Amino acid sequence: MPLQKKHRLSFEFFPPKTEKGASKLRATRNQLARLSPDFFSVTYGAGGSTRDNTRDVVLEGIRDGYAIAPHLSFGGDTQDSIRSLLDQYAAAKVERIVALRGDLPSGYGDGSRLVHASELVEFIRAHYGSAFHLEVAAYPEIHPEAESYDSDIGFLKQKFEVGADSAITQYFYNADAYARFMESCARAGINKPVYPGVMPITNFENLKRFSANCGAEIPRWLGYRIESYGDDLHARDQFCIEFISELCEKLLAMDAPGLHFYTMNQAASVEAICQRLGVNAS
Ligand code: FAD
Repeated sequence: MPLQKKHRLSFEFFPPKTEKGASKLRATRNQLARLSPDFFSVTYGAGGSTRDNTRDVVLEGIRDGYAIAPHLSFGGDTQDSIRSLLDQYAAAKVERIVALRGDLPSGYGDGSRLVHASELVEFIRAHYGSAFHLEVAAYPEIHPEAESYDSDIGFLKQKFEVGADSAITQYFYNADAYARFMESCARAGINKPVYPGVMPITNFENLKRFSANCGAEIPRWLGYRIESYGDDLHARDQFCIEFISELCEKLLAMDAPGLHFYTMNQAASVEAICQRLGVNAS
């Protein structure tokens, strides 16, 4: 099934650390803008470590005329400093925020200081009313720290009940996980849109490491198949683009309301996948 006008399309970036990274990100953003996404989003480093970088990328993008959604978590910050950041976003006419608990940087303690995303959603609604559309995170393969499948869905429901408008999922490579998750969400009374997060496969070694940490499963057959290409990077990339495009088609056929791509600040794979889904660059 192709991606149609009714589907929401969004692209996620991380804030670069260097001027070289910043100019590469501008080029990526301008290239992906030709696919007419509904918005871009910019991640927020664990524990608030990219607070200024994230803000700068967001505000620059807005000045350049793009719809940009900052990710935000309390990390170790005070309510005052989160409000100061939100004031800047409100003044810049940011319309959407991705509200998260986040993770603490490694070596930062036992995690007991983390503020749940539902509390951040409540905090934003209490101080800013409906100024922002609030996105939250959802986990079709269940968050790695969740006590159970049902409790994780219960906490997602709570995020909606306190004011979230929609959710974006962690990436996954098994379409059935999303289908079952959406059935469970419906049974739990969740009726807000849940947009699948899609991670193109570019650097497989990094992806394996990252997936082990965030609880995203890479199917065994897929790992073997990708590794079987050895040094033939062109053939491997082509296979990965075909695989992810088929995953997206399956998700859209299951009535997913749109797609959110984790771009890793790279345009080529995302662009190739979107083109296979029938999105033409303007
Ligand atoms: P929560 O919703 O607070 O849930 C965290 C865990 O606690 C879950 O196990 C849940 O079941 C449980 N839980 C939830 N509420 C409660 C409660 N009230 N009481 C007890 N337990 C509860 N990380 C970053 O650092 N920066 C980013 O920019 C970033 N962007 C992301 C974007 C998306 C779309 C997604 C899916 C993830 C992103 N992450 C990001 C990762 C995310 O921060 C981690 O997965 C984090 O561990 C959980 O965040 P959360 O918002 O889902 O937390």
